[in-house]
Amino acid sequence: MKKDIIVVGGGCIGLMSAYCLVKSGRSVTVIEKNDITNGTSFGNAGLLSAFKKAPLSTPGAISDTLKLMLKGESPASVHPTFDLHLYKWLLKFAASSTEARLKRTLALFERYGQISLDMYESMVKDDGMDFHFCKDGLLMIYTEQKTFDEKAAHCNNPDAYEILSKERTKEYMPILNEKVIGSILLKENGHVDPGEFMLELKKFLQNKGVEFLLNEEVTKLEFSGSKVSKIHTNKDSYEAETFILSTGANDTLAKQAKNRFMMTPAKGYSITFKMDEALKPKTSSLFADLFIAMTPRRHTVRMTSKLELGTTNSNIIRKQIDSIHKNLSLYTNDFVKEDMVEWTGFRPLTPNDIPILGFDENYDNLVHATGLGWLGITFAPAIGKIIGDVVTVDKKNATNIDILLFSAFYQG
Ligand SMILES: Cc1cc2nc3c(=O)[nH]c(=O)nc-3n(C[C@H](O)[C@H](O)[C@H](O)COP(=O)(O)OP(=O)(O)OC[C@H]3O[C@@H](n4cnc5c(N)ncnc54)[C@H](O)[C@@H]3O)c2cc1C
Repeated sequence: MKKDIIVVGGGCIGLMSAYCLVKSGRSVTVIEKNDITNGTSFGNAGLLSAFKKAPLSTPGAISDTLKLMLKGESPASVHPTFDLHLYKWLLKFAASSTEARLKRTLALFERYGQISLDMYESMVKDDGMDFHFCKDGLLMIYTEQKTFDEKAAHCNNPDAYEILSKERTKEYMPILNEKVIGSILLKENGHVDPGEFMLELKKFLQNKGVEFLLNEEVTKLEFSGSKVSKIHTNKDSYEAETFILSTGANDTLAKQAKNRFMMTPAKGYSITFKMDEALKPKTSSLFADLFIAMTPRRHTVRMTSKLELGTTNSNIIRKQIDSIHKNLSLYTNDFVKEDMVEWTGFRPLTPNDIPILGFDENYDNLVHATGLGWLGITFAPAIGKIIGDVVTVDKKNATNIDILLFSAFYQG
């Protein structure tokens, strides 16, 4: 029987799209090649960091990274590759790192960050989900006097910022040593436990009648004229009115529909461990000069870092894990990390922090929802809403204001 909507990919973007579609009365099937327990939407830092936090493509990003590379502390690396697409991506990244673009991106982040925060709040209050949703700010920790002074000079709004001395910063993160300069609390941000969020959302969707086909990989899209007529998996084939591709950093299916999006997988690491409760960070924290995040969770703490381009190998590389520990140890006193769990995942990264959202330009019943890069958890609820609206209300990209503002189809 022909299905109504098939969502391919059960990460946070696919599940939030399913959430909004099912709330609009649509019938949804999610097809996921794994079992929704450990993908990129699970092992990330869980920061909700849309407010006052510079995007990746920001003026000075390249020179700052080069400086860190020289000091051996850089989180970013590019593997040698013959893939021309990556070099085009890097050029586009450099071209996007302008003041004008930064101003617009920050405004868009606040718009979709606020929609997301409100939706997270409603999922907790109205839908009864519990995923350790905390709206207690993001602490940006500085280890360089110059960067701290430059940032602090612009933090005049007391509703959005609190500038903290070294001593006050240590109250937030007791493990810090004397080398830390100070910090700025970005008050409007928050964090969740992404794994708990994914499992709670899946449970909610199952209760609402969403069908989950797990451990089933979509291998082929079949086309007829301007439509996707069928999809084939390793187990079966299915017809549907509408197909949504939310396959994260994997663009294999989008390519079958003749798309070559400006998106690249950016590998990152997380290390989750138990530590002395008294020493745990009091809120989610980010070492601004090192790109290492530390998020307090119910029973553990999670560190995340690294941004590797030019690889799709998901293996844990020991050198990278060691370098995260080493870089952190430069600014912290010794502390015990117990029961460490190491993990890697791939951010679906566009060169200008603008996602790929909306109807395909060649096939009328195919919708894309990817490219959320390092901010998928931050924006997942807003993206679900945009996808829900464009599929059920607007039915085309050009009449949906959010697609016009925040999709690479218009802002690429
Ligand atoms: C180290 C690290 C830290 C991060 N920290 C944060 C953070 O603090 N805050 C934040 O907002 N974001 C963060 N992110 C980014 C965030 O995790 C991603 O943006 C987000 O998870 C992407 O979600 P997605 O649904 O697009 O993709 P995914 O979570 O990758 O989901 C895509 C799903 O599609 C499935 N799939 C792919 N192909 C097929 C197919 N052919 N058939 C069936 N299924 C398929 C995959 O198995 C996968 O489950 C971080 C990422 C990393 C790597």
